[in-house]
Amino acid sequence: MTRTLHVIGAGLAGLSAAIRLAQHGESVVVHEAAGQAGGRCRSYHDPALDMEIDNGNHLLLSANRAALAFLATVGSADRLVGPPHADFPFVDLKSGARWTLAIGDGRLPWWIFDAARRVPGTRARDYLSIARLLWPPRDAAVGDVIACDGALYDRLVAPLLLAALNTAPPEGTAALAAAVLRETIARGGRACRPLVARDGLGPTFIAPALAFLSGRGVTVGFGRRLRALGFDGDKAATLDFGDETVRLAGDDRVILAVPPVVATALVPGLTAPTEFRAIVNAHFRLTPPATMSPIIGVINGTVEWIFVFPDRLSVTISGADRFLDTPREELAKTIWREVAAVARLGDTEALPPWQIVRERRATFAALPAQERLRPGARTGLRNLWLAGDWTATGLPATIEGAIRSGERAAELALD
Ligand SMILES: Cc1cc2nc3c(=O)[nH]c(=O)nc-3n(C[C@H](O)[C@H](O)[C@H](O)COP(=O)(O)OP(=O)(O)OC[C@H]3O[C@@H](n4cnc5c(N)ncnc54)[C@H](O)[C@@H]3O)c2cc1C
Repeated sequence: MTRTLHVIGAGLAGLSAAIRLAQHGESVVVHEAAGQAGGRCRSYHDPALDMEIDNGNHLLLSANRAALAFLATVGSADRLVGPPHADFPFVDLKSGARWTLAIGDGRLPWWIFDAARRVPGTRARDYLSIARLLWPPRDAAVGDVIACDGALYDRLVAPLLLAALNTAPPEGTAALAAAVLRETIARGGRACRPLVARDGLGPTFIAPALAFLSGRGVTVGFGRRLRALGFDGDKAATLDFGDETVRLAGDDRVILAVPPVVATALVPGLTAPTEFRAIVNAHFRLTPPATMSPIIGVINGTVEWIFVFPDRLSVTISGADRFLDTPREELAKTIWREVAAVARLGDTEALPPWQIVRERRATFAALPAQERLRPGARTGLRNLWLAGDWTATGLPATIEGAIRSGERAAELALD
């Protein structure tokens, strides 16, 4: 009898697991609680803007090999676009300074020695702090390893690490910061090109993945929330979806790719991160000035990054729990004033159509104490493995981590 591999959750971790299993000719069924796939990486029609937007702006880097391979597999690699080199324009709203950090293509960081290409106000030797972060002591926070002040920190290290960790850098896990730096800046500009899903996350990641799975006979069931697991000794024996209970046959296997709070409720004795951080995104419908770069870093503002799309400007604020209770209108006005200044739009008062999207539990908090709670893909159950950006991937909660975790769980389930 052919065995069935059940994947629970159709976020990127679940989808990547299902794709890997389907590539091996396995019989795969995906069960997703929501009415659509994608989880925290999805597109939807926003009524206030009357356009398709993403639940959050997602930045990838050319170092994200698993994400790029995923897109190549499902045939949508060309939908991830970015500039040919790792050039990052920045604007400092306090001083008005504008500069472009130009990380050269090669591995050797020559750009550090060129005042025109490095961060203004920094000296070449300041960059040793980045080197110090590459191999930090276990369990350390970033603030234990480097001084969290000075021009290089304020203008480069802090924005980069806040975006990567979604946690205030001084308290962020140094090992995760190191993993990101080792895979990106330490490998030179070719690994640091910023990439964005031009047509949206749904059309780039999710729809092509679903089409790939459907082409291989994989069923993806929506509105299928796993409510409980039944056990028989050291194996999962049943999947309870409320209206239906699936009894697992002899060699059937399960990959649980759900958020940590759901996984800990389903699997007895499982530890997982318990603290989370929010991300706020603001979207403004307008045709941006043609001269704007696709991604702009903002220093000394509420806004941290501006993403430039053909029909809108979108803003990301990470570690944004302090804005969860701010009235939406007030937040939109503050953000718009800053966006208008960066875009050099004359009228900063009249708001174009806007939307604020707050994801409360955007990622787990990248703190050393939370890092210790991340479980591996293996569980105490012989036929059940875990996937998700919150499992012990060695990376912060990112698309890259989610996809790698799904592939790892699939490899173990195939073994
Ligand atoms: C606003 C925002 C901005 C972000 N920006 C970036 C970025 O710039 N770059 C980057 O790399 N990453 C970014 N991320 C992180 C990235 O989106 C996540 O790391 C990734 O999408 C996580 O995928 P996942 O599959 O692990 O989890 P999820 O996407 O959470 O998937 C879990 C799935 O399980 C389903 N589910 C839950 N319970 C059940 C159940 N009982 N039964 C069945 N199904 C269930 C859920 O509906 C969901 O579809 C951002 C995230 C957010 C929210």
